[in-house]
Amino acid sequence: MGLDRYSRINLNNAIAKFQIAKRIEVERLEGGLKGGLEGRLGERLGERLESELEHLLKVHSEAKEEFKEIKEELDSGKIDGNKFAEKKAAFSFLDLKVKILEKMLESCCFCERRCEVNRYSEKGFCKCTDKSYYSSEFLHMGEEPELIPSHTIFFNRCTFRCVFCQNYDIVYHDDYPVDEAEIARIVDLRYRQGSRNVNFVGGNPDQHAHTILKILRNVESNVPVVWNSNMYHSSELAEIIEDVVDVWLGDFKYGNDECALKYSKVKNYWEIITRNFKRAEKNGELLIRHLVMPGHIECCTEKIAAWVARNLNNPRFNLMFQYYPTYKAYDYPEIARRLRSDEMREAMEIAKRYALDLVR
Ligand code: SF4
Repeated sequence: MGLDRYSRINLNNAIAKFQIAKRIEVERLEGGLKGGLEGRLGERLGERLESELEHLLKVHSEAKEEFKEIKEELDSGKIDGNKFAEKKAAFSFLDLKVKILEKMLESCCFCERRCEVNRYSEKGFCKCTDKSYYSSEFLHMGEEPELIPSHTIFFNRCTFRCVFCQNYDIVYHDDYPVDEAEIARIVDLRYRQGSRNVNFVGGNPDQHAHTILKILRNVESNVPVVWNSNMYHSSELAEIIEDVVDVWLGDFKYGNDECALKYSKVKNYWEIITRNFKRAEKNGELLIRHLVMPGHIECCTEKIAAWVARNLNNPRFNLMFQYYPTYKAYDYPEIARRLRSDEMREAMEIAKRYALDLVR
């Protein structure tokens, strides 16, 4: 399946999801709830705060239904997109999402590491506090053809620890603090320069979800959002971010839990990643990336291709051959080399056998 809605946004025949979320008015959270959130640092965590989150989530789930209806009506032309674009919300569905994510930071479960640390005062596995840092942003011409030029924003830090990490210079330290309004201004500028999307990556974007939604709150352009992710996010995070993600650009690295644990230090990989891909397909458009690894054709490439063919609706699939050993890969002799040509051929034959919709 191609990225049809994404292409329509590019042509201004559809509205990016975050721009819809920004225009849906939700219940303003008055009194105790709002004050409780703002006075967060002076309070100890307890039942009251938990019930505040529950309340926020209840309002969110009601607004989500309205969001879905409005999006469908906009897509089908029942609602005039130009008139809708003139709307302003005093407190929007997107504002509510930011509030929820800020609250979730007090016991972080953005990803399936589920550290449950209070990121206002502690760091979890990803070493992020509530502040986000980024390494660079530019118009990327090396992504999939349908994405370029892609305004790619590289955030620092990651929820994985891949021993062959090709971005290890980004992942293990903090570069520039994110000023959300300033980055939003740059997103708009890059759009005027010809970007077809804003592509949040790293590292990984999940641990910066609250910051990314704050950026989007300030973006004016009708630019599609690409979430370039390892797909290890929690269902709680998916519930919030899926209404702003137009394209899930998801890595599908491993075909089993053993390889995932060995090379990326993650547990329960297969169940989580397959759950998230199925969910992503229901609420957005999907482009899967699989980096073929030396000696992992049977255990990973073949398993992934078979699962995608049987369980997803023929998404775009990028079979990538650019693996090279770097970072700690030399500690693992079996992956301390590039792919052989026979491995590339075999991976391509597998993709053809399962009739995957390959990116070329
Ligand atoms: S984003 Fe993931 S790794 Fe980081 S603190 Fe939260 S649960 Fe832990």
